[in-house]
Amino acid sequence: MSVAPNPAIAARCVEVYNRLVPRWPDQRPLVHHRNCFELLIAVILSAQTTDEQVNAVTPVLFARYPDAWSLAGADIEDVASIIHPVGFFNAKARHIVRTAQELVTRFGGKVPDTMEDLLSLPGVGRKTANLVHSACHDAPGIIVDTHVLRVLYRLGITPRRDPGIAEETVRIHLDPALHTAFSYAVNRHGKFVCMARKPCCTQEHCECPLLDLCPRRDVARRHPETPG
Ligand code: SF4
Repeated sequence: MSVAPNPAIAARCVEVYNRLVPRWPDQRPLVHHRNCFELLIAVILSAQTTDEQVNAVTPVLFARYPDAWSLAGADIEDVASIIHPVGFFNAKARHIVRTAQELVTRFGGKVPDTMEDLLSLPGVGRKTANLVHSACHDAPGIIVDTHVLRVLYRLGITPRRDPGIAEETVRIHLDPALHTAFSYAVNRHGKFVCMARKPCCTQEHCECPLLDLCPRRDVARRHPETPG
C-alpha cells in the first residue's frame, strides 16, 4: 500500500510534534548501552519485551561478551542462559551471535553506518535499524515500535496498524530533521500516557496533551481495556 500525501495528516504530525517534543525532549534509547555495539545488541533483544527486562540482562551479557569479537565466538547456549528472562531467548541468542559474526567478518567489528547494511544483519528489522542508525550516526530516524504504532493509529495518522505504512506516512508528512525527536516523544507518550490498556483518557484528570486532537478518545473511554 502506497501512502498518498495528505495536508491534514502533515498538519497533525506537526501539531503532535509541537505538543509532545517539549514534554519529552530526551532523544536517547531507554535500553542501557555504552557504545553502538551494545546498543545494537540491546535493541535486538528488546523485541517483544520491555526495556527494563533488557536492562536487567545486558550488564551480565556485556561483562562476559564486551565486543563483537567475543560475542562472535560465544557458545549460543551460554548466551541463551544469560538472556533467558527476555523471552524468545533461543532465537535471540542465535541472532545476536550471528550478528556479531557478521560485524566481525563484514564490518571490521564495527556497527555499519548505512540502513542497507544494518538491515542485512540477523534479527535487525526497520525499527532496530532506524534506532541504531539515528543514535550512532546522527541520521534522521523514524522508529516505529509498538508504542509509536499504537499512538499513530489512535491519532489517525497511520490508517493501518502496520509499521511499514506508519513509517512511510511519517516520512512523507514530516520534515526529516524532526523525525528522531518525533519518534522518541511519541514513544514516551505511548509508554507513559497512551498505554495499550487503559490509556490516560479513560481515567479521571487525564492530562493527555492530545485530547482535543484524538479521534480515539471516546472509543477509549467506552472500552478502557481494549481501546484499540
Ligand atoms: S486522548 Fe487517549 S487515546 Fe488519544 S492520545 Fe490521548 S491517551 Fe491516547
